[in-house]
Amino acid sequence: MAFAYRDGALCAEQVPLEDIARRFGTPCYVYSRAAIEGAYREFTDELAGRASLVCYSVKANSNLAVLSVLARLGAGFDIVSGGELARVIAAGGNPAKIVFSGVGKTEEEIRGALQAGILSINLESEQELERVNAVAGALGKRAPVAFRVNPDVDAKTHPYISTGLKQNKFGVAWSDAERLYRKAAALPHVRIAGVGCHIGSLMLDSAPFVAATTRIVDLVERLGQAGIGLEHIDLGGGMGIRYHDETAAPVAAFVHGALDALGRRRETVLLDPGRAIVGNAGVLLTRVEYVKPGEAKNFVVVDAAMNDLIRPALYGAWHDVKNLREAESGAAAGVYDIVGPVCESADWLAKDRTLAVRQGDVLAILSAGAYAMAMSSNYNTRPRAAEVMVSGADAQLVRRRESVAQLFEGELVPAWK
Ligand SMILES: *Cc1c(COP(=O)(O)O)cnc(C)c1O
Repeated sequence: MAFAYRDGALCAEQVPLEDIARRFGTPCYVYSRAAIEGAYREFTDELAGRASLVCYSVKANSNLAVLSVLARLGAGFDIVSGGELARVIAAGGNPAKIVFSGVGKTEEEIRGALQAGILSINLESEQELERVNAVAGALGKRAPVAFRVNPDVDAKTHPYISTGLKQNKFGVAWSDAERLYRKAAALPHVRIAGVGCHIGSLMLDSAPFVAATTRIVDLVERLGQAGIGLEHIDLGGGMGIRYHDETAAPVAAFVHGALDALGRRRETVLLDPGRAIVGNAGVLLTRVEYVKPGEAKNFVVVDAAMNDLIRPALYGAWHDVKNLREAESGAAAGVYDIVGPVCESADWLAKDRTLAVRQGDVLAILSAGAYAMAMSSNYNTRPRAAEVMVSGADAQLVRRRESVAQLFEGELVPAWK
């Protein structure tokens, strides 16, 4: 376990989190390098012996240190913007292992991706196919492309993170895919590299993932009969993790289910997990500013807020909360809502938790490695948190805490009379 109590103190690997809070301040995200590496290797171990590439989904946590840990292991990357492309390259990632997804790629982003020499542009519409063909032509290149196909399979997850249903904005329609492939095959500046699919995030069961794979295999077979061969099949990410008491199917169930569905097909298999690699590899440290008993509810007011971690406000997400001191120094346990200082009633991090807690204590919000810092904002003019990565007994700052001055340095006041 990357985060566990040792001698009564919650630690990241071998480093007491209290030391990190003291050294770097709060709020502060802390990541475990060993946890990231271990989660990545679960995928590569299960895929051993098969032509495959695990493309970490950068949007889950895009800190350069996280990307660098994965780049050194030979990971590929799944990106959704030109900004993420720049991050991967800055972190030492191999552009030839990048797949680019997203419904709204601009001409500039497509140009940047082609100049970098990425593995595949995952197309999400017919107009995007035409745009990529035109941009590649102007550069004198042939763009490697895949269509992200929407298999109309229900991922059975929160509606905000469901992406593989007919009514979702993602991918090209299942019924239109073959026509689009035939069209792409006839264009001069694109080269058909593969097919992609991603039906949603935080899937606890592998069955929808396997069902989507089966549909993709059916399409790949039809394309083969039409003389259109593919190099890779990208099955997306979405593998769930445990936040609370839910049972998430293990990575092996997703991988083996997909490999069974692929049967004797020999295309390279791509997976793009994000949450499953970093979700349980991070915690958010936050200090208790006030303990505030109320008429209907008791509140613990902490120095982290919805701008640091929006998942509870956005999806009603549940994160475990621990006091860094296992046997908190003498305080009686109470039932509290853990809330931040932001002026919104949605600004809560946890509700109805039994905790022993006193003013000045530091709490850890667990499972905060994915879609946490990456979704943070400066709402209420709050500087974003620091980020620290631990490896063994060493803790390193991997992102400085923002200063207030940085927050408005780009703002201009017109000199009107
Ligand atoms: C967000 C995303 C992923 C990663 O999803 P997780 O639930 O974090 O695994 C993978 N592929 C695509 C295309 C995505 O947009």
